[in-house]
Amino acid sequence: MTIDTPITLVVLDMAGTTVSDDGTVERAFLAADAAVGLAADDAGRRDMLQYVRDTMGYSKIVVFRHLANGDEDLARRANAAFESAYREIVASGGCEPILGAADTIHALRAAGVRTAFTTGFSAETQEALLASLGWTDIVDVVLTPADAGRGRPFPDMPLTALIRTETESVQQMVVVGDTANDVLSGVRSGAAASVGVLTGAHDEAALRAAGATHVLASIADLPSLLGLAVPAVLEAR
Ligand SMILES: [Mg+2]
Repeated sequence: MTIDTPITLVVLDMAGTTVSDDGTVERAFLAADAAVGLAADDAGRRDMLQYVRDTMGYSKIVVFRHLANGDEDLARRANAAFESAYREIVASGGCEPILGAADTIHALRAAGVRTAFTTGFSAETQEALLASLGWTDIVDVVLTPADAGRGRPFPDMPLTALIRTETESVQQMVVVGDTANDVLSGVRSGAAASVGVLTGAHDEAALRAAGATHVLASIADLPSLLGLAVPAVLEAR
């Protein structure tokens, strides 16, 4: 099933959607716990990881505020330890593009579609990630929760992308992500489609339950969903 209305803006999540996340985000959470002591014991650590999985896609500082039970200083130290652990993973080459992600973005832009990256990371970590992938200029707009107001599951990042790109209507926007919270932010923004991908944190049932209009095996299936010419490099996968 393709999307028939003309789409001029695609809002893309990063980790798990366009960038691989083979447990790297969870590893960084565990490193933060080891550094500042969020969980009291193993049972607490299991609960923490479950909460981290359920809230994947949220602004990370918001997740740490919950895990720190309102202790703002602890939350900030945990977030700093998380960001530093994740940036070490990035620096050691632990984050790679999802297969076909760059070709998909090039295909969108070649078709005149504006593109935006959204994330739950801080701007510094997002910049480090983009630099490590050579993606500094690959999309039109790059956003963190701080740029928009609130992170997911709120619609602030997709709507800020719409405003920044001067897109005429939410009916011309598609939001794509690997988590229920990404999908929910798309639904709440009124986007023409909120698309889930299966290369990240949440499964098809979770994405559908959040209101995904479409679920794709990966971002590489997006050009054909939008009825765009599929580059040979993507056909050949
Ligand atoms: Mg993600």
